[in-house]
Amino acid sequence: MPNVPVLGPVTWAENESRMYELLWMLLPVAAAGGWLAGRRYAMTTGPDRFWNDATTYHRDLHSLLSETAADSAPDDTLALGSPVSVEQDAAETHIALGNMFRRRGDLDSAIRIHASLTRKNQLGEDVRSEAQLELARDYDSAGLLDRSEAQFRALLKANRQVDASYEHLLQISERASDWQRAIQTADEFQNSTGRNLGSRIAHYYCEIAESLIAAETTNGLNADKAAGGTEDAERWLENALKRDPACARASIRLAELAVGEKNFSEAIDLYERVEQQRPELMPEIISPLFESLEQLGDETRLRAYIDRIKGRLNAYSVIKTTRNMIERMDGENAADEFFKDQIVKRPSLKGLRDWARGQLEKSRPNERGKVSVMCDMLDQVVKDKPGYVCSECGFRGQTRHWRCPGCNRWDTVHTVIGAEGE
Ligand SMILES: [Zn+2]
Repeated sequence: MPNVPVLGPVTWAENESRMYELLWMLLPVAAAGGWLAGRRYAMTTGPDRFWNDATTYHRDLHSLLSETAADSAPDDTLALGSPVSVEQDAAETHIALGNMFRRRGDLDSAIRIHASLTRKNQLGEDVRSEAQLELARDYDSAGLLDRSEAQFRALLKANRQVDASYEHLLQISERASDWQRAIQTADEFQNSTGRNLGSRIAHYYCEIAESLIAAETTNGLNADKAAGGTEDAERWLENALKRDPACARASIRLAELAVGEKNFSEAIDLYERVEQQRPELMPEIISPLFESLEQLGDETRLRAYIDRIKGRLNAYSVIKTTRNMIERMDGENAADEFFKDQIVKRPSLKGLRDWARGQLEKSRPNERGKVSVMCDMLDQVVKDKPGYVCSECGFRGQTRHWRCPGCNRWDTVHTVIGAEGE
């Protein structure tokens, strides 16, 4: 934990002198960009001239320092006779500098700068609330969660930075796995802004169910406690579906619990519900779905399901698993016919690789080496392809995550569909 400064009165002049040191350090960066060249005189003619004459300089510097600098060029229209005061403009630059200190890990300086801005009454409410939001982020980065939450709450009370404050409060609860609190905050967020957070809240319910199931595993030897844990978990999962009827995660978990209880008919219903909720999750549920159909011992239902698969285009894992089931029921020829028909309709690298492997034994001895090399090459290509990708941040991986490890958003990691994936 960093050395937290005592937030006594920090004078504007003290901050200004620190800013000068930093601005001098940054000068070469700006000069290299070219656009600062015409304004360098401001730095050599004393502080008064610098602060009073360099309105656009501040704005440009703000763009340079802010995290979004790469995404947006300085807005020239703002520089032409904008009524924004120099004082306010300088404050925005201070906010950006504080943010830069935070990114560099100098949280003491970040807190000092942002805190001093929040106390500067002559600044407009907008810029002060912006500084307060950054101050709350500084405290969060410093691990001072109580102070951070107090700042976010104060902003909410003043009806300022509402979305950002709620979002941060939710992230704090999520990081602490305090799901009950997250539900409370999300409900509050939803009620005060009219936003629909149903799917996120449903995930919080699922997280609570997961922790109950994990605790039940620990209590495995105590049958009474274990049964109680499962029932509680089921209740949370059912409530998740009430908050978000499209919550496939809750359906999958309920199906798994039903399989554990040998309630196969219910498990099949739940897996079929996942098919409606999130068809791209089919590769993950097709094996347990077939197992449940087999365990139920209802061949008519099993064949009806296979017919349904035959009548549509499928992800490759679905094709492969169904092929194996058909082989066991009706023999290799029927299975091969289904397989060929499906991979022609929906080609994929994985399908091609497995088809080539199947041809290995059937190929003539003098061609077998070539087919084998082709199989190895396809293996390599398939192996390097990610199975999942985040639609928000581009995170790629081989494991399905309900919350993206890259950007921490929920339900943004999707199965890769198409020739290179499923
Ligand atoms: Zn992401």
